[in-house]
Amino acid sequence: MNIDLEIYSPVQQIKNKLFDEQGITLHIKRDDLIHPLISGNKWRKLKYILKKASAQNKTHLVTFGGAYSNHLLATAVAAAKFGFNCTGIVRGEEVTNDTLFLCRLHGMKLLFTDRESYRDKPALFDKYFGDDETAFFIDEGGASAEGAQGCAELVDELTQIYDHIFCACGTGTTAAGIINGLHNHGLNTEFNAVPVFKNGGFMKDEIDKYLIPPAAYQLHTAYDFGGYAKTDDKLISFIKQFVADTGILVEPVYTGKMLYAIYDLAGKGYFKPGNSILAIHTGGLIGLLGMKEKF
Ligand SMILES: *Cc1c(COP(=O)(O)O)cnc(C)c1O
Repeated sequence: MNIDLEIYSPVQQIKNKLFDEQGITLHIKRDDLIHPLISGNKWRKLKYILKKASAQNKTHLVTFGGAYSNHLLATAVAAAKFGFNCTGIVRGEEVTNDTLFLCRLHGMKLLFTDRESYRDKPALFDKYFGDDETAFFIDEGGASAEGAQGCAELVDELTQIYDHIFCACGTGTTAAGIINGLHNHGLNTEFNAVPVFKNGGFMKDEIDKYLIPPAAYQLHTAYDFGGYAKTDDKLISFIKQFVADTGILVEPVYTGKMLYAIYDLAGKGYFKPGNSILAIHTGGLIGLLGMKEKF
């Protein structure tokens, strides 16, 4: 089985009075359009992981996530598409929601586990699949060197040089991959990481783990809105306005916070006149279905 997806991720300009006033331009790379369910950075991260599993003749993918994990869903769908069996180990008590429904529909077996045992993922893997020769461990969120390798390819697709690239960070794998990609192309584009967790300073260690070679970048830790999947009225009204103005759907967990950061920094005069900015739309739109009450 040839493990590959044709990448469709156009770059589109976002017009706004604020950007005209500041003399800057904003473009967005539509990784959300790569696949409706193996969305955004999740395919980029899985590509070399799945190739490695296949090279080792592993036929059963085992991975981890919360009940709304875009990575779980992407893995379930990629497993179905490329002929793997698949198990998702889910943090917390048994629940059901749109994400898990779609995981099951694509043939993923779900094992729910208490939050305490969830912390030690290798131990869980050993407990359930220690003597399954076909089983292949994929870390939560696809965090791995192979994941970063796939994300570096995003830079190969760019046809213009930008002054800034912005990306939301969960595990930091996507950010690291893009920074590596910029290095591979000898570009000195400034990379801007927006952690979606509270006290996101720790994201620096996570990103640095996968950098080859070490590199400098900006970490914007003021846009977590209280923590993972937390929102406030300002973020929700920003997203409503953005979606209505542009026709580009974004969710509040990742891309919404990253875009908010760009607009906020632009309003504060952070960018220099003439600067070009590229935002990465990392997808994850199914997660919106679990957040309707916030709107
Ligand atoms: C998983 C995810 C991220 C985070 O990517 P990392 O590589 O883990 O930092 C960003 N955006 C969306 C929509 C995601 O689903």
